[in-house]
Amino acid sequence: MSAVRVPTGQPVPALRIAGLERVYGSIVALSGVDLEVRQAEMLTVLGPSGCGKTTVLRLVAGLEQPDAGTIEIAGRRVTGPGGSVPPERRRVGMVFQDYALFPHLSVADNVAYGIRRDPDRAVRVAELLELVNLPDAGDRMPHELSGGMQQRVAMARALAPRPDIVLLDEPFSNLDAALRTQLRGDLREILRAAGASAILVTHDQDEALTLGDRMAVMVRGRIEQCDPPEIVYGEPATPFVATFVGTGNLVHADCRLGVGMTRLGPVRLVGASARIAGGALAVIRPEHVELEEAADGPAEAGAWRVVRRRFTGSEILLEVEAPDGLRLWCEAGPAVRRLRIGDAVRLRLRDVETVAFAPSRTHQPAAAEPAPVAAEAVVER
Ligand code: ATP
Repeated sequence: MSAVRVPTGQPVPALRIAGLERVYGSIVALSGVDLEVRQAEMLTVLGPSGCGKTTVLRLVAGLEQPDAGTIEIAGRRVTGPGGSVPPERRRVGMVFQDYALFPHLSVADNVAYGIRRDPDRAVRVAELLELVNLPDAGDRMPHELSGGMQQRVAMARALAPRPDIVLLDEPFSNLDAALRTQLRGDLREILRAAGASAILVTHDQDEALTLGDRMAVMVRGRIEQCDPPEIVYGEPATPFVATFVGTGNLVHADCRLGVGMTRLGPVRLVGASARIAGGALAVIRPEHVELEEAADGPAEAGAWRVVRRRFTGSEILLEVEAPDGLRLWCEAGPAVRRLRIGDAVRLRLRDVETVAFAPSRTHQPAAAEPAPVAAEAVVER
Protein backbone atom coordinates (compact mmCIF):
# COMPACT_ATOMS: atom_id res chain seq x y z
CA MET A 1 0.00 0.00 0.00
CA SER A 2 1.69 3.21 -1.08
CA ALA A 3 1.49 6.13 1.30
CA VAL A 4 0.01 9.33 -0.07
CA ARG A 5 2.19 12.29 0.91
CA VAL A 6 1.26 15.85 1.59
CA PRO A 7 3.70 18.64 0.69
CA THR A 8 5.26 18.75 4.18
CA GLY A 9 6.65 15.26 3.61
CA GLN A 10 4.41 13.78 6.31
CA PRO A 11 2.49 10.73 5.14
CA VAL A 12 -1.24 11.42 5.25
CA PRO A 13 -3.03 9.40 7.91
CA ALA A 14 -4.87 6.27 6.84
CA LEU A 15 -7.94 7.68 8.58
CA ARG A 16 -8.78 11.10 9.90
CA ILE A 17 -12.05 11.74 11.74
CA ALA A 18 -12.97 15.23 12.90
CA GLY A 19 -15.92 16.45 14.95
CA LEU A 20 -18.04 13.37 14.35
CA GLU A 21 -21.54 13.54 15.81
CA ARG A 22 -24.30 10.93 15.72
CA VAL A 23 -27.59 11.12 17.54
CA TYR A 24 -30.32 8.45 17.59
CA GLY A 25 -33.49 10.12 18.90
CA SER A 26 -32.56 11.11 22.45
CA ILE A 27 -29.36 9.01 22.48
CA VAL A 28 -26.13 10.85 21.74
CA ALA A 29 -24.02 8.01 20.33
CA LEU A 30 -21.08 10.19 19.26
CA SER A 31 -20.28 13.65 20.51
CA GLY A 32 -17.39 15.41 18.80
CA VAL A 33 -15.12 12.45 18.05
CA ASP A 34 -11.67 13.29 16.63
CA LEU A 35 -9.41 10.38 15.76
CA GLU A 36 -6.49 9.62 13.50
CA VAL A 37 -5.01 6.30 12.36
CA ARG A 38 -1.51 6.58 10.95
CA GLN A 39 -0.18 4.59 8.01
CA ALA A 40 0.48 0.93 8.96
CA GLU A 41 -0.73 1.62 12.50
CA MET A 42 -3.08 -0.48 14.58
CA LEU A 43 -5.30 1.79 16.65
CA THR A 44 -7.43 0.05 19.24
CA VAL A 45 -10.58 1.70 20.59
CA LEU A 46 -11.56 0.56 24.07
CA GLY A 47 -14.74 1.49 25.84
CA PRO A 48 -17.68 0.10 27.78
CA SER A 49 -20.72 -1.30 26.05
CA GLY A 50 -22.81 1.39 24.36
CA CYS A 51 -20.08 4.06 24.32
CA GLY A 52 -20.24 4.39 20.51
CA LYS A 53 -17.40 2.15 19.25
CA THR A 54 -19.40 0.32 16.59
CA THR A 55 -21.03 3.56 15.49
CA VAL A 56 -17.57 4.96 14.67
CA LEU A 57 -16.83 1.96 12.46
CA ARG A 58 -20.22 2.09 10.75
CA LEU A 59 -19.74 5.75 9.89
CA VAL A 60 -16.21 5.14 8.58
CA ALA A 61 -17.48 2.25 6.44
CA GLY A 62 -20.27 4.47 5.11
CA LEU A 63 -23.01 2.15 6.38
CA GLU A 64 -24.67 5.21 7.88
CA GLN A 65 -24.22 8.96 7.90
CA PRO A 66 -23.17 11.24 10.77
CA ASP A 67 -25.11 14.31 11.86
CA ALA A 68 -21.92 16.37 11.68
CA GLY A 69 -18.20 15.93 11.14
CA THR A 70 -15.82 14.76 8.45
CA ILE A 71 -14.08 11.50 7.60
CA GLU A 72 -11.03 11.21 5.35
CA ILE A 73 -9.58 7.89 4.28
CA ALA A 74 -6.01 8.04 2.97
CA GLY A 75 -6.39 11.77 2.38
CA ARG A 76 -9.68 11.48 0.49
CA ARG A 77 -12.81 13.04 1.99
CA VAL A 78 -15.48 10.32 2.13
CA THR A 79 -17.96 11.97 4.50
CA GLY A 80 -18.67 15.62 5.17
CA PRO A 81 -20.18 18.72 3.68
CA GLY A 82 -20.32 18.19 -0.05
CA GLY A 83 -21.36 14.57 -0.04
CA SER A 84 -20.59 11.02 0.87
CA VAL A 85 -18.68 8.30 -0.96
CA PRO A 86 -20.66 5.02 -1.05
CA PRO A 87 -19.33 2.12 1.06
CA GLU A 88 -18.07 0.06 -1.90
CA ARG A 89 -15.85 2.93 -3.04
CA ARG A 90 -14.29 3.76 0.33
CA ARG A 91 -11.47 1.21 0.16
CA VAL A 92 -12.16 -0.19 3.62
CA GLY A 93 -11.96 -3.83 4.68
CA MET A 94 -14.22 -5.05 7.46
CA VAL A 95 -13.89 -7.93 9.89
CA PHE A 96 -16.84 -8.62 12.19
CA GLN A 97 -17.18 -10.73 15.33
CA ASP A 98 -19.39 -13.28 13.57
CA TYR A 99 -16.94 -13.71 10.61
CA ALA A 100 -19.80 -13.11 8.11
CA LEU A 101 -18.35 -15.49 5.50
CA PHE A 102 -20.60 -16.44 2.59
CA PRO A 103 -21.69 -19.99 3.56
CA HIS A 104 -22.28 -21.16 -0.03
CA LEU A 105 -18.85 -20.06 -1.28
CA SER A 106 -15.57 -21.94 -0.82
CA VAL A 107 -12.79 -20.37 1.23
CA ALA A 108 -10.99 -19.28 -1.96
CA ASP A 109 -14.17 -17.74 -3.41
CA ASN A 110 -14.83 -15.94 -0.14
CA VAL A 111 -11.34 -14.43 -0.21
CA ALA A 112 -11.69 -13.55 -3.89
CA TYR A 113 -15.08 -11.90 -3.43
CA GLY A 114 -13.85 -8.32 -3.38
CA ILE A 115 -11.45 -8.86 -6.30
CA ARG A 116 -13.62 -11.07 -8.50
CA ARG A 117 -12.91 -8.96 -11.58
CA ASP A 118 -9.15 -8.98 -11.01
CA PRO A 119 -7.47 -11.30 -13.57
CA ASP A 120 -4.70 -12.07 -11.06
CA ARG A 121 -7.10 -13.01 -8.29
CA ALA A 122 -5.95 -16.65 -8.07
CA VAL A 123 -2.41 -15.54 -7.28
CA ARG A 124 -3.64 -12.98 -4.77
CA VAL A 125 -5.91 -15.53 -3.05
CA ALA A 126 -3.05 -18.03 -2.75
CA GLU A 127 -0.80 -15.30 -1.36
CA LEU A 128 -3.41 -14.31 1.24
CA LEU A 129 -4.20 -17.88 2.29
CA GLU A 130 -0.47 -18.31 2.81
CA LEU A 131 -0.40 -15.09 4.84
CA VAL A 132 -3.18 -16.26 7.16
CA ASN A 133 -1.58 -19.68 7.45
CA LEU A 134 -4.32 -21.59 5.64
CA PRO A 135 -2.47 -22.42 2.41
CA ASP A 136 -4.41 -25.64 1.72
CA ALA A 137 -7.89 -24.51 2.74
CA GLY A 138 -8.99 -22.88 -0.54
CA ASP A 139 -11.40 -25.65 -1.57
CA ARG A 140 -12.99 -26.10 1.83
CA MET A 141 -16.35 -24.65 2.81
CA PRO A 142 -16.65 -22.24 5.77
CA HIS A 143 -18.69 -24.67 7.91
CA GLU A 144 -15.82 -27.17 7.76
CA LEU A 145 -13.50 -24.73 9.54
CA SER A 146 -13.08 -23.87 13.22
CA GLY A 147 -14.05 -20.40 14.45
CA GLY A 148 -10.41 -19.29 14.52
CA MET A 149 -9.85 -20.51 10.96
CA GLN A 150 -13.01 -18.77 9.76
CA GLN A 151 -11.82 -15.53 11.29
CA ARG A 152 -8.47 -15.87 9.48
CA VAL A 153 -10.39 -16.35 6.22
CA ALA A 154 -12.39 -13.22 7.03
CA MET A 155 -9.10 -11.33 7.49
CA ALA A 156 -7.81 -12.59 4.15
CA ARG A 157 -11.05 -11.52 2.50
CA ALA A 158 -10.84 -8.06 4.05
CA LEU A 159 -7.23 -7.62 2.91
CA ALA A 160 -7.70 -8.94 -0.64
CA PRO A 161 -8.57 -5.60 -2.33
CA ARG A 162 -5.64 -3.90 -0.53
CA PRO A 163 -7.88 -1.56 1.47
CA ASP A 164 -6.61 1.76 2.79
CA ILE A 165 -7.88 0.80 6.22
CA VAL A 166 -9.15 -2.37 7.89
CA LEU A 167 -11.99 -2.03 10.41
CA LEU A 168 -12.23 -4.78 13.01
CA ASP A 169 -15.30 -4.96 15.26
CA GLU A 170 -14.68 -7.20 18.30
CA PRO A 171 -13.14 -9.85 16.01
CA PHE A 172 -12.28 -12.31 18.78
CA SER A 173 -15.35 -12.18 20.99
CA ASN A 174 -16.83 -15.42 19.64
CA LEU A 175 -13.68 -17.41 20.37
CA ASP A 176 -12.63 -19.19 23.56
CA ALA A 177 -9.85 -17.65 25.68
CA ALA A 178 -6.94 -19.76 24.37
CA LEU A 179 -7.89 -19.30 20.74
CA ARG A 180 -8.44 -15.61 21.28
CA THR A 181 -4.89 -15.15 22.57
CA GLN A 182 -3.48 -17.15 19.67
CA LEU A 183 -5.50 -15.30 17.06
CA ARG A 184 -4.61 -11.90 18.51
CA GLY A 185 -0.95 -12.63 17.85
CA ASP A 186 -1.75 -13.96 14.39
CA LEU A 187 -3.81 -10.90 13.52
CA ARG A 188 -1.03 -8.53 14.51
CA GLU A 189 1.47 -10.45 12.38
CA ILE A 190 -0.91 -10.67 9.42
CA LEU A 191 -1.65 -6.95 9.43
CA ARG A 192 2.01 -6.07 9.87
CA ALA A 193 3.05 -8.34 7.03
CA ALA A 194 0.39 -6.76 4.82
CA GLY A 195 1.47 -3.24 5.87
CA ALA A 196 -2.18 -2.56 6.64
CA SER A 197 -3.57 0.28 8.74
CA ALA A 198 -6.32 -0.84 11.06
CA ILE A 199 -8.75 0.23 13.74
CA LEU A 200 -9.98 -2.41 16.15
CA VAL A 201 -12.79 -1.78 18.59
CA THR A 202 -13.14 -3.87 21.71
CA HIS A 203 -14.35 -3.79 25.28
CA ASP A 204 -11.52 -6.15 26.28
CA GLN A 205 -8.70 -4.12 27.79
CA ASP A 206 -6.05 -6.84 27.35
CA GLU A 207 -6.82 -6.81 23.65
CA ALA A 208 -6.62 -3.03 23.44
CA LEU A 209 -3.38 -2.88 25.42
CA THR A 210 -1.56 -5.72 23.68
CA LEU A 211 -2.63 -5.05 20.08
CA GLY A 212 -2.63 -1.29 19.81
CA ASP A 213 0.29 0.82 18.64
CA ARG A 214 -1.94 3.46 20.16
CA MET A 215 -5.22 3.05 21.96
CA ALA A 216 -8.19 5.37 22.29
CA VAL A 217 -10.36 5.14 25.39
CA MET A 218 -13.94 6.06 24.71
CA VAL A 219 -16.85 6.76 27.03
CA ARG A 220 -20.30 8.16 26.34
CA GLY A 221 -19.59 9.05 22.73
CA ARG A 222 -16.29 10.83 23.43
CA ILE A 223 -12.62 9.96 23.22
CA GLU A 224 -11.10 10.53 26.66
CA GLN A 225 -7.51 9.73 25.69
CA CYS A 226 -5.60 8.48 22.66
CA ASP A 227 -1.98 7.48 23.30
CA PRO A 228 0.36 4.47 23.21
CA PRO A 229 -0.90 1.83 25.68
CA GLU A 230 1.98 2.39 28.13
CA ILE A 231 1.07 6.06 28.38
CA VAL A 232 -2.64 5.34 28.79
CA TYR A 233 -1.81 3.01 31.68
CA GLY A 234 1.02 5.04 33.22
CA GLU A 235 -0.32 8.54 32.64
CA PRO A 236 -4.09 8.28 32.34
CA ALA A 237 -5.68 11.54 31.25
CA THR A 238 -8.82 11.31 33.37
CA PRO A 239 -10.06 9.47 36.47
CA PHE A 240 -12.27 7.36 34.21
CA VAL A 241 -9.29 6.18 32.16
CA ALA A 242 -7.28 5.56 35.37
CA THR A 243 -9.90 3.20 36.72
CA PHE A 244 -11.18 1.68 33.48
CA VAL A 245 -7.78 0.62 32.12
CA GLY A 246 -6.22 -1.66 34.72
CA THR A 247 -6.98 -1.44 38.41
CA GLY A 248 -6.54 2.06 39.78
CA ASN A 249 -6.72 3.31 43.35
CA LEU A 250 -7.41 7.04 43.65
CA VAL A 251 -5.83 8.31 46.84
CA HIS A 252 -5.88 11.83 48.24
CA ALA A 253 -2.56 13.65 47.80
CA ASP A 254 -1.37 17.08 48.86
CA CYS A 255 0.59 18.21 45.83
CA ARG A 256 3.46 20.66 45.69
CA LEU A 257 6.46 21.07 43.40
CA GLY A 258 5.86 17.84 41.55
CA VAL A 259 5.38 15.66 44.62
CA GLY A 260 2.09 14.30 45.93
CA MET A 261 2.07 13.42 49.61
CA THR A 262 -0.38 10.59 50.25
CA ARG A 263 -1.12 8.79 53.51
CA LEU A 264 1.14 6.00 52.25
CA GLY A 265 4.04 8.30 51.43
CA PRO A 266 5.17 10.58 48.60
CA VAL A 267 4.69 9.97 44.87
CA ARG A 268 6.48 11.79 42.08
CA LEU A 269 4.00 13.45 39.75
CA VAL A 270 4.58 13.46 36.00
CA GLY A 271 3.09 15.28 33.03
CA ALA A 272 0.67 18.11 33.64
CA SER A 273 -0.02 16.85 37.16
CA ALA A 274 3.51 17.90 38.19
CA ARG A 275 2.13 21.46 38.20
CA ILE A 276 -0.78 20.78 40.56
CA ALA A 277 -0.69 22.73 43.81
CA GLY A 278 -3.04 21.62 46.57
CA GLY A 279 -5.31 18.65 47.12
CA ALA A 280 -5.78 16.10 44.34
CA LEU A 281 -6.38 12.39 43.73
CA ALA A 282 -3.24 10.43 42.89
CA VAL A 283 -3.40 7.21 40.89
CA ILE A 284 -1.87 4.33 42.85
CA ARG A 285 -1.62 1.08 40.93
CA PRO A 286 -1.57 -2.29 42.75
CA GLU A 287 2.10 -2.78 41.77
CA HIS A 288 3.00 0.55 43.39
CA VAL A 289 2.34 -0.89 46.84
CA GLU A 290 4.46 -3.39 48.72
CA LEU A 291 2.65 -5.56 51.27
CA GLU A 292 4.15 -7.07 54.35
CA GLU A 293 2.52 -9.27 56.96
CA ALA A 294 1.95 -7.17 60.12
CA ALA A 295 4.64 -8.09 62.66
CA ASP A 296 2.29 -8.40 65.60
CA GLY A 297 -0.35 -10.20 63.65
CA PRO A 298 -3.98 -9.12 63.82
CA ALA A 299 -3.36 -7.20 67.07
CA GLU A 300 -1.06 -4.62 65.47
CA ALA A 301 -2.50 -1.16 65.92
CA GLY A 302 -3.33 0.65 62.72
CA ALA A 303 -2.80 -2.42 60.55
CA TRP A 304 -4.62 -2.81 57.29
CA ARG A 305 -6.64 -5.95 56.83
CA VAL A 306 -7.12 -8.13 53.78
CA VAL A 307 -10.79 -7.96 52.76
CA ARG A 308 -10.80 -9.47 49.28
CA ARG A 309 -8.61 -11.63 47.10
CA ARG A 310 -8.58 -11.78 43.32
CA PHE A 311 -6.65 -14.49 41.51
CA THR A 312 -6.23 -13.90 37.78
CA GLY A 313 -4.02 -16.86 36.92
CA SER A 314 -0.85 -14.84 36.57
CA GLU A 315 -1.20 -12.60 39.61
CA ILE A 316 -2.93 -12.24 42.92
CA LEU A 317 -4.47 -8.94 43.94
CA LEU A 318 -5.48 -8.31 47.52
CA GLU A 319 -7.89 -5.63 48.56
CA VAL A 320 -6.85 -4.23 51.92
CA GLU A 321 -8.80 -1.97 54.24
CA ALA A 322 -7.47 0.66 56.65
CA PRO A 323 -9.04 1.05 60.12
CA ASP A 324 -10.81 4.18 58.79
CA GLY A 325 -12.37 2.24 55.91
CA LEU A 326 -10.17 3.27 52.96
CA ARG A 327 -9.69 0.33 50.63
CA LEU A 328 -6.86 -0.29 48.14
CA TRP A 329 -6.09 -3.04 45.68
CA CYS A 330 -2.47 -4.20 46.00
CA GLU A 331 -0.41 -6.78 44.20
CA ALA A 332 0.60 -9.72 46.37
CA GLY A 333 4.29 -10.52 45.80
CA PRO A 334 5.68 -14.04 46.45
CA ALA A 335 6.23 -13.37 50.18
CA VAL A 336 2.59 -12.56 50.87
CA ARG A 337 0.74 -14.77 48.40
CA ARG A 338 -0.53 -17.01 51.18
CA LEU A 339 -2.29 -14.13 52.99
CA ARG A 340 -5.98 -14.72 53.48
CA ILE A 341 -9.05 -12.64 54.19
CA GLY A 342 -8.80 -11.10 57.67
CA ASP A 343 -4.97 -11.18 57.85
CA ALA A 344 -3.30 -7.95 58.97
CA VAL A 345 -0.74 -6.26 56.72
CA ARG A 346 1.45 -3.22 56.51
CA LEU A 347 1.75 -1.16 53.34
CA ARG A 348 4.76 0.58 51.87
CA LEU A 349 4.68 2.72 48.78
CA ARG A 350 7.41 1.99 46.27
CA ASP A 351 9.26 4.80 44.53
CA VAL A 352 6.38 5.78 42.31
CA GLU A 353 5.96 8.02 39.30
CA THR A 354 2.30 8.64 38.64
CA VAL A 355 -0.33 11.24 37.86
CA ALA A 356 -2.90 13.05 39.95
CA PHE A 357 -6.16 14.80 39.16
CA ALA A 358 -6.97 18.21 40.56
CA PRO A 359 -10.55 18.60 41.87
CA SER A 360 -11.95 19.94 38.57
CA ARG A 361 -10.75 16.77 36.78
CA THR A 362 -12.15 14.43 39.38
CA HIS A 363 -15.69 15.50 38.72
CA GLN A 364 -17.09 13.17 36.10
CA PRO A 365 -20.48 13.72 34.50
CA ALA A 366 -23.08 11.16 35.50
CA ALA A 367 -22.05 7.92 33.88
CA ALA A 368 -24.16 4.90 33.18
CA GLU A 369 -21.20 2.58 32.69
CA PRO A 370 -18.27 3.20 35.06
CA ALA A 371 -18.47 3.29 38.80
CA PRO A 372 -18.47 6.86 40.13
CA VAL A 373 -15.14 8.22 41.28
CA ALA A 374 -15.31 9.26 44.90
CA ALA A 375 -12.77 11.38 46.73
CA GLU A 376 -10.05 9.04 47.93
CA ALA A 377 -11.58 6.01 46.36
CA VAL A 378 -10.73 2.77 44.74
CA VAL A 379 -12.72 1.69 41.75
CA GLU A 380 -12.55 -1.93 40.84
CA ARG A 381 -13.27 -2.92 37.29
P1 ATP B 1 -21.13 -2.55 22.29
O1 ATP B 1 -19.74 -2.70 22.83
O2 ATP B 1 -22.16 -3.02 23.24
O3 ATP B 1 -21.28 -3.09 20.90
P2 ATP B 1 -20.73 0.14 21.30
O4 ATP B 1 -19.75 0.90 22.10
O5 ATP B 1 -20.28 -0.45 20.02
O6 ATP B 1 -21.41 -0.96 22.21
P3 ATP B 1 -22.75 1.45 19.70
O7 ATP B 1 -23.28 0.19 19.13
O8 ATP B 1 -21.91 2.29 18.84
O9 ATP B 1 -21.95 1.15 21.06
O10 ATP B 1 -23.97 2.31 20.24
C1 ATP B 1 -23.83 3.58 20.85
C2 ATP B 1 -25.18 4.04 21.39
O11 ATP B 1 -26.03 4.29 20.29
C3 ATP B 1 -25.86 3.00 22.23
O12 ATP B 1 -26.55 3.66 23.26
C4 ATP B 1 -26.84 2.34 21.28
O13 ATP B 1 -27.96 1.84 21.97
C5 ATP B 1 -27.20 3.49 20.38
N1 ATP B 1 -27.54 3.06 19.01
C6 ATP B 1 -26.69 2.49 18.12
N2 ATP B 1 -27.32 2.22 16.94
C7 ATP B 1 -28.59 2.65 17.10
C8 ATP B 1 -29.75 2.67 16.25
N3 ATP B 1 -29.71 2.21 15.00
N4 ATP B 1 -30.88 3.19 16.76
C9 ATP B 1 -30.95 3.68 18.02
N5 ATP B 1 -29.89 3.69 18.86
C10 ATP B 1 -28.74 3.19 18.42
